[in-house]
Amino acid sequence: MKKFDLGIIGGGQLGMFICQAAKELSLTSVVYSNTEDFSAQRFCDHFIVGNYSNESINEFIESSDLFTIETENIPKTVLRKINRRKKLFPNSDIIEICQNRFEEKNFLNSIDNVSTARFRLVKNFKDLEESLKFLGNQGILKSCKFGYDGKGQYFINKLNYREFEKFSFDEFIIEEVLDFKKEISVIICKTNQNFSIYPPVENLHKNSILRKTTYPAKINKRTSENAKNIALSISSKLGLVGILTVEMFVMKDNSILVNELAPRPHNSGHWSLDFCETSQFKNLILSIFDGKVKNPNPTQNCKMINIIGADYKKKEQLKKAYKFYDYFKGEIRPLRKMGHYTIKN
Ligand code: ADP
Ligand code: MG
Repeated sequence: MKKFDLGIIGGGQLGMFICQAAKELSLTSVVYSNTEDFSAQRFCDHFIVGNYSNESINEFIESSDLFTIETENIPKTVLRKINRRKKLFPNSDIIEICQNRFEEKNFLNSIDNVSTARFRLVKNFKDLEESLKFLGNQGILKSCKFGYDGKGQYFINKLNYREFEKFSFDEFIIEEVLDFKKEISVIICKTNQNFSIYPPVENLHKNSILRKTTYPAKINKRTSENAKNIALSISSKLGLVGILTVEMFVMKDNSILVNELAPRPHNSGHWSLDFCETSQFKNLILSIFDGKVKNPNPTQNCKMINIIGADYKKKEQLKKAYKFYDYFKGEIRPLRKMGHYTIKN
C-alpha cells in the first residue's frame, strides 16, 4: 500500500485541522475514522473507515510510519500496537493516562505543585453515599472513560442521590463541586529539543460544553505564569513529545486546580489558527516532523465562539460576518459542535 506522511486516528474537526496543517507543510495524511461521514474526509489524502478491527488497524499501521490522534477515546490495544510498530505522538502511555479520569487525577496529584479537586472512586451506591458526605453533600459523578462535553456526568446532592441506588457504577469517580472563579486552559507542544506554550485562555462553558474562548485570559501575571508552569511540569513528567492541553480552574484565591488533560489539540486553541504565528495544529506537526516547535507569537486579542446544534442553521449569515470554520458535519444534533468563528477583541 502507498505510504502517507502522517496517520491520524479520528476524523472530526480536530482531525480535519491536523490534515490541513499537514497539507500546508506539503505532507500527506491518512485518517482512520470509525464513522462513514466525517469532517476530515475532504482534507485528508486517504482514509480508512473501520471499527478498530485487526484487519483495518493493520492496514492503517502499514499506511504510515508516524501517527497522532484527535481523540483519546481509542482502544488501548490499538494504541499499544501502533506504539510498538511505529511512532505515536503523544505516545500510548500518555494517552492511556488521559483516557481514565481516575488514573489521570492520581497522576496529576503525584506531581509537586499540581493538584486537582478532591475526588473518590465510586464502585457502588455505598461508596456514593460515603463520598458524598466526604465532599460536603454534593459532587459531580463522572464516568472515568469516554467522557467529553459533559457526557457521562451527573450532579449529585442530598436531594437526588437516592435516584442512583440502582445505577450501574461501572467506572466512576465523584469529585467535589468547585466554586471556581474562572476556567482556563493551556496548550503545550514539546519535543526532546524545545517546548512552546500557548498563553492561558479563558473558557466559558454552558451545560458542560465549551461556548466561548477568550485570549488572553483575564488573570494576573503571576497566575498566568503559574498556569504555564503547571502545564510544563505535567508535560515534563509525562515525557511528552507532541501536544498536550491542560484544562484548569482558577479559584477565588487565584490558586489553580487542574481539571483534566487532553493529549491532542483542543477546541480552546482554535483561535491560534487566526491569531497566532504558529497554530496549535502546525506546532503538533512540527513536533512530529521537525523535532522542534515554534513560539506561538499571538498577534491579536480575540474570541472564539463555537457554533453548536441548531445555531448552525445561521451558517450563511455567519460566513458573511465572520471568519467561520465549517466542520462539514452531515447532521445537526443538539449540543453537537458544528463549527466556530473567531473575532478580534
Ligand atoms: P469533559 O471531559 O466532558 O470536558 P470536564 O471534567 O472537563 O469533562 O467537565 C466539563 C465541564 O463541567 C467543565 O469544563 C466545568 O465547566 C464543569 N465542571 C467539571 N468538573 C467540575 C467541578 N468539579 N466543579 C465545578 N464544575 C465542574
Ligand atoms: Mg473538559
